[in-house]
Amino acid sequence: MSKNNELSEEEKKVIYNKTFGRCGYCGVEIDTSETELSLINPIRLGGTYDADNILPSCKSCNYRKGASSLEKFRTQSERFQSSVLSNNIISLEQARGKGVQFHFERLLKDE
Ligand SMILES: [Zn+2]
Repeated sequence: MSKNNELSEEEKKVIYNKTFGRCGYCGVEIDTSETELSLINPIRLGGTYDADNILPSCKSCNYRKGASSLEKFRTQSERFQSSVLSNNIISLEQARGKGVQFHFERLLKDE
């Protein structure tokens, strides 16, 4: 187990490639320089700094998720006005009445 800032470049690459250059939550395209690393399950809820528990995230999702659990972030995202989320995939999913499904979850489903 290593801390975020102790991840090797190799580990960071593995994490970044998980979602093919997109934010793991909203699916917006992000390049490596603006990618933040977000813990799916936060430390205070028993999460670890393992690559399995880390998703690449855009600044805005990482900021909004903070130390919330994934389910809390989902509920929170469902409440956001579509104007806040315009141009990203969460709002599209919501518009289709499917509820919020995060980008990485769709990727897992397609596997
Ligand atoms: Zn995002």
